[in-house]
Amino acid sequence: HARRLEGVDENIWVELVSLAEQYKTVNLGQGFPNFSPPSYMREAFSKAVTDEHTLLNQYTRAFGHPPLVKALAQLFGPLFGQDLNPLTNVMVSVGAYGALFSTFQALVDEGDEVIIIEPFFDSYEPMTLMAGGRCVYVSQKPADGGKPLDSGGWRLDLAELEAKINKNTKMLVLNTPNNPLGKVFNKEELEEIANICVKYDLLCISDEVYEWLVYDGNQHVRIASLPGMWERTITIGSAGKTFSATGWKVGWAFGPDCLLKHLRTVHQNSVYHCATGAQEAVAQGFQTELARLGKPECYFVQLRDELQKKRDRLYRCLTEVGMKPVMSQGSYFMIADISVFKSEVPPPTDQNIPYDNYFAKWMMKHKQLAAIPMSAFYSGPHKKQFENYLRFCFVKEDATLEAAEKILQKWS
Ligand code: PMP
Ligand code: GLN
Repeated sequence: HARRLEGVDENIWVELVSLAEQYKTVNLGQGFPNFSPPSYMREAFSKAVTDEHTLLNQYTRAFGHPPLVKALAQLFGPLFGQDLNPLTNVMVSVGAYGALFSTFQALVDEGDEVIIIEPFFDSYEPMTLMAGGRCVYVSQKPADGGKPLDSGGWRLDLAELEAKINKNTKMLVLNTPNNPLGKVFNKEELEEIANICVKYDLLCISDEVYEWLVYDGNQHVRIASLPGMWERTITIGSAGKTFSATGWKVGWAFGPDCLLKHLRTVHQNSVYHCATGAQEAVAQGFQTELARLGKPECYFVQLRDELQKKRDRLYRCLTEVGMKPVMSQGSYFMIADISVFKSEVPPPTDQNIPYDNYFAKWMMKHKQLAAIPMSAFYSGPHKKQFENYLRFCFVKEDATLEAAEKILQKWS
């Protein structure tokens, strides 16, 4: 095999998704909704593939179906404070994964250092390594040293971040709202991070796939909209998360043409193109929601309000059974400290694997409940420090949440 595959052969999703299925679990693990995208979008997708009088079953433009990039530019231009050119400032790929992969391949060179803020969506690490880069980690920690009840209480130490920057540092990866913490970085925090990027001339990848899912009146701030950041930032989004259609695998990158042209080079020589029917349906989704923006019937508002209720329900349940949840400000996820349940589970025989990984697998097998160990979102040396948390996905039908509650109540 090629050298670039060394150290990236294991994947937490491949492993845990198959276990969750094997044990027929109530699945609060992998992040996907078990309800459908808006019906008008499903109809648009089905029309795209059944209509004999269009070319929607054929290739479309390589870097994004024209109506989709147009709608994206129209919606996001004002949010970034930029006049976006749909042909040069937007690129569509196969999910946010595809957009992320193109970004790392396009901008990270052999020997470049990439700063990753922990806990982090696991894919940033293998993507950095496959580009020949080196990962440098900065952990967010509970700010008061104790156990905050809100994900906003987990903070980045800016002095620590700055100390890790050297002449090889090329890029910083940010994810807000954050998977798995559910933390939404506030404007002051983002300004501080932006100042560091500008001061040291770093590029920034901002993964904002959960941008519409921000609760309790918290605001999603786009780092690319801050002074000095547009020209150095690639912002990543996902129709999967925006429209509850993770299986459609439509994602995109926004950025200045001087950076996006390099992403296009990777894309045209790898993916080249993604499913036209899915892009057509997502384009119609954005066109429709653009007209409803800010109104109560807008899907972005409806989904957010719906998910906030589900989050509250899960928080209540986890608290009642004695797990200590950390209130999520955004995203699909909430983490909870499972320490009190340790006495309910036979001790692990292998001390080398993080405890939460053992616990999650035991829970799947013996309680038919799936969640993801938090250590999956930390680098090797830091996993042991954060091995008492599980990540629960609350983007599920109420019946699924109820089934999970029953399992936890019976067990506690
Ligand atoms: N970024 C984050 C933070 C994620 O949680 C995910 C997982 N869905 C992705 C990117 C990948 O998104 P997609 O399914 O659109 O490839
Ligand atoms: N992003 C989703 C999660 O964090 C799914 C990732 C995946 O399945 N590869 O659960």
